[in-house]
Amino acid sequence: MSFLPSYVRDAWWLPEPDPDAAVVRDASTGEEIVRVTTRGLDLAGVVEHARRVGQPRLGALTFPQRAMVLKNLAIALNDRREELYALSMRAGSTRRDSLSDIDGGIGVLFTYSSKARRELPAGTVVLDGPVEPLSKDGSFLGRHVYTRLAGVALQINAFNFPVWGALEKFAPAFLAGLPTIVKPATPTAYIAEAWVRIAADTGLLPPGALQLVSGGIPGLLDLLDLGDTVGFTGSASTAERLRVGVRPSVRFTAETDSINASILGPDALPGTPEFDAYIRQLLTELTTKAGQKCTAIRRAIVPAGLTDAVAQALREKIGARVVVGDPRADGVTMGPVVSLAQRDEVRRQVDLLRAAGGRIVVGDTAVPEVRRADGTTGPAEDGAFLSPVVLAFADATIPAVHELEAFGPVASIVEYGDVAEAADIVARGGGSLVTSVATHDPGVATELLTRMGAMNGRVLFLDRDDARTSTGHGAPVPHLVHGGPGRAGGGEELGGIRSVLHYMQRTAVQGSPRMLTALTGVWHPGADVDASGTHPFRKPLSDLRIGDAVMSEERTVTLADIEMFARFTGDTFYAHMDETAAAANPFFPGRVAHGYLLVSWAAGLFVDPAPGPVLANSGLENLRFVTPVSPGDRIRVALTAKQITPRETDDYGEVRWDAVIRNQDDAVVAQYDVLTLVAKTWQPQEVLV
Ligand code: NAP
Repeated sequence: MSFLPSYVRDAWWLPEPDPDAAVVRDASTGEEIVRVTTRGLDLAGVVEHARRVGQPRLGALTFPQRAMVLKNLAIALNDRREELYALSMRAGSTRRDSLSDIDGGIGVLFTYSSKARRELPAGTVVLDGPVEPLSKDGSFLGRHVYTRLAGVALQINAFNFPVWGALEKFAPAFLAGLPTIVKPATPTAYIAEAWVRIAADTGLLPPGALQLVSGGIPGLLDLLDLGDTVGFTGSASTAERLRVGVRPSVRFTAETDSINASILGPDALPGTPEFDAYIRQLLTELTTKAGQKCTAIRRAIVPAGLTDAVAQALREKIGARVVVGDPRADGVTMGPVVSLAQRDEVRRQVDLLRAAGGRIVVGDTAVPEVRRADGTTGPAEDGAFLSPVVLAFADATIPAVHELEAFGPVASIVEYGDVAEAADIVARGGGSLVTSVATHDPGVATELLTRMGAMNGRVLFLDRDDARTSTGHGAPVPHLVHGGPGRAGGGEELGGIRSVLHYMQRTAVQGSPRMLTALTGVWHPGADVDASGTHPFRKPLSDLRIGDAVMSEERTVTLADIEMFARFTGDTFYAHMDETAAAANPFFPGRVAHGYLLVSWAAGLFVDPAPGPVLANSGLENLRFVTPVSPGDRIRVALTAKQITPRETDDYGEVRWDAVIRNQDDAVVAQYDVLTLVAKTWQPQEVLV
């Protein structure tokens, strides 16, 4: 008899022997794997460790440094993913199933690491939106910033994604600077233990940054307070029970079960590529992880009269493609559900759906013939096997279709009359993680999105153009939001960097330009400028400071220059070439200089041309032309180092410069950010070598 360890206070901890420990068994054979309990665990000590050790140690790292830890963890997990695959098979997952959980989880780490290094600043504070001038003379500004929460991130996960489910919460919390406590679901806690062990083995985790509690967490929620978060994934009923037990000051987000829908568009009739793609997608969602996905299709909403065609097409596909059995046997495409208890629960839900009027049109709930690990075929009473089951309902308004979740390879078909009715049927689910629509008609897609978009966290449109490249109805991607309104829990995860902000607090900060510059690490107009010494283009990142600036000489604009630029570039737009037409334009006094000419001149005015640490101009952002420039006007440019972001993995970084072009009257002509890549160090003699 073995007990599953927890990883707490940066060490492995084994529970006291506990006769009441939960017994976890192999999903295919029923063989005992491990027992799970937290008897004897000091949960208050776990929370305390996260607060006293994890918080300061993570707080000492910048966003890019945290991002590099994530990347190296991803590499370590990737190197040892076969170990995770082998364990995952014990829970019923085929290798294809593991792609979404294990590779998907590792992918989340890689994506978050790279997004953080590209999209987050070099420090620990995130700016939100533009600076707001709050006084006429510019001496008082306002700005929104995000700083990390002061507590811990507790994550409580569902059994079906022990790797992805934990990593998709851990990555953004870690980036934000919050220590995480993972509480995996008991049936697959041994898989969570395995990835945490690999992560701990790397030695890369800052102390206190990650703890794992294998087993129950009685009383732990009571220890949480302002600054702490709970990210729950599981059934809607558990979410509601836990939500009421958490202090209102704790951020509680829930990702729960949802009765997701997939609509076959009125144009996607049998024989069209959309119909075929729809059937393929239904099959995938029924069989991947034996249908144990929060995002799986539970309701197939099809045009009136098409139930039989859809059921027939599915039966054919299942007959040709689906082999139910032990994932360790060759050729098995669908494993068991996670446990006998789960199998019985699925059967119970199917019985309820039948009692509510559902007619089984694909499969049945009898014990199926399965392929065993040794290659033989037959019934497997100790394994939690089920066949794919599809029910059909004559009445699409029956509540059971929209309320009951059979968390296994089960879906229901209902019919609609018109597109408005299809959207109404989706809405009956009370809020879903995802709805997909097979249609090639943009009109149908637009009407559906308008009517039912707000009932969903994600909507996927499937047609002949994207069927091959679609990431799939059931696959959340780290770049896009995962979560949904109402029944789906009302939470939001992933969605790129926005999920990092869930672990931070937005605060409106007011103060002088100098103070905002110091607080944010980003130069604000009105703060100190140093244009007295070496040209900033001669300074590598090691010497450059925000506020280092160039104040250029003036340049007079002539008509000849404008005409030459027009001829040279081919931009002979009338505002530059035709005095009468230009003067008739409401914005111009007469012929004016091209905006692009001004930007080019500005570069000529601020540049220091010799080879040096500035390696490249990588772009312009936020360019605005404010005041027209006429022949005879004089312009000058001020270029100020605004933000410096060294790259962790390169010997250069990005410098964002504030560029402002003014005329002889001091009016702003144009303003923009210039982006450059600048070497971290630079020896002048390198030029000579
Ligand atoms: P569950 O029974 O609701 O359990 C979810 C988690 O809550 C488990 O870790 C469970 O731990 C824990 N838990 C239960 N009671 C608790 C308590 N009193 N205090 C603290 N923790 C407690 O769900 P499940 O059976 O694991 O997962 C299946 C469900 O999750 C399905 O309904 C599915 O739709 C949903 N799901 C949703 C998403 C999503 O992103 N929206 C993703 C995956 C799954 P124990 O296992 O130790 O009891």
